[in-house]
Amino acid sequence: MDFRDTPEDAAFRQEVRGFLRAELPADLRAADDAVLGVGVGEDEREVDWLRKLAKRGWVAPAWPKEYGGAGMSTMQQFIFNEEIARARAPRPNFLAIGLAGPTIIVHGTDEQKKEHLSGILSGEHFWCQGFSEPESGSDLASLKTRAVQDGDDFIINGQKIWTSGAHRSSRMMLLARTDFDVPKHKGISYFLLDMKSPGVSVRPLMNMAGTHSFNEVFFDNVRVPKKDLLGELNKGWYVATTTLDFERSGIINAVSLQQLIQELLDFADRDGIRPATPVRHEIAERWIETEVAIALSYRVVSMQVKGLIPNQEASITKLFGSELAQRIARTAVHLAGPRAVLSEGSKHAPMGGRPESWYRIAVGATLAGGTSEIQRGVIAQRGLGLPRG
Ligand SMILES: Cc1cc2nc3c(=O)[nH]c(=O)nc-3n(C[C@H](O)[C@H](O)[C@H](O)COP(=O)(O)OP(=O)(O)OC[C@H]3O[C@@H](n4cnc5c(N)ncnc54)[C@H](O)[C@@H]3O)c2cc1C
Repeated sequence: MDFRDTPEDAAFRQEVRGFLRAELPADLRAADDAVLGVGVGEDEREVDWLRKLAKRGWVAPAWPKEYGGAGMSTMQQFIFNEEIARARAPRPNFLAIGLAGPTIIVHGTDEQKKEHLSGILSGEHFWCQGFSEPESGSDLASLKTRAVQDGDDFIINGQKIWTSGAHRSSRMMLLARTDFDVPKHKGISYFLLDMKSPGVSVRPLMNMAGTHSFNEVFFDNVRVPKKDLLGELNKGWYVATTTLDFERSGIINAVSLQQLIQELLDFADRDGIRPATPVRHEIAERWIETEVAIALSYRVVSMQVKGLIPNQEASITKLFGSELAQRIARTAVHLAGPRAVLSEGSKHAPMGGRPESWYRIAVGATLAGGTSEIQRGVIAQRGLGLPRG
């Protein structure tokens, strides 16, 4: 394929770069944990950034213009995302913009669109995703949280877990079981939950990097009005699989991983670390792998531009990128040497404690958004035609 921009794409890229140069404060760069796949945008200043994007109409690149999006083509979204990643600009409210909004646009009633979309674009409402449960992660359709009809309400009881950002969200995309006597995929409904409803409680879960990123959420007789059911009753599984015409190449992740290596080199230079030959070779290997990750992203977007739907190709990108994040963290530890165990805050910590924190943060990357085993299963079955395991 031809990796060069068309003249129109090149002009658009320049426009995005000019905007980022003028508007993105130098100190507002994505946190490492976001790059490594677990961050949710903890910084309040990100809301200011959201407002700047809103002024330019670029908060929701993929949404149709009639709903306040930018209506960008797949290629424009790719370029926009690539430049956002190169500038390390934060992506606040990502779950709302990338998931909740598009699902409401496709399945919502006019009232639901009116109630929810503008609050997402303005940053007034942050959303979390209440899908996983203690016994239902990879096998999500086995979820047990119950929603039972009672007059004009549903009454919710149960528990969610690993809910990223629930502690700073005012809304939740909630999957709950509404029919108990049918095959598991067919008895699930999708609700737009107000997190302030009586009976909702959020308990923090610290991740192994010591960061509060996800939570447990409990529902004790929570009343959800029927108007907050999204799509048809018992069709929530299909509602949950909705995407708009999204760019799904993983370019943000691929570019961000390459920047982690650059950051590592800058820190090593600053700390006067001179890596021995095996470590130098290891760093070169990681750099090549990030180039591969970027090339995989181009493959996915080139399929989408042709109207094809990436399937196992998206799994390959996710699998490769998340495992690469862990290899980069390991290389950072090798580069830093024995002092790599020291964390940020210690005056003896090499490279500002990056190796130590990256090593712990990166663990979650191969779990969130579908584990490596699940991705390999998709590639084996749908890509290679192997029988189901
Ligand atoms: C950082 C982070 C953020 C997250 N954020 C959210 C969120 O915001 N909202 C939300 O709903 N969830 C979230 N999750 C949960 C995530 O979706 C689940 O952790 C993931 O789906 C795996 O489910 P599980 O943890 O229950 O593990 P399980 O599904 O119990 O898997 C345990 C192990 O068994 C393996 N396994 C399971 N099934 C198979 C199979 N069929 N074949 C081979 N191996 C298999 C898995 O690969 C894994 O190694 C988050 C997770 C992480 C790590």
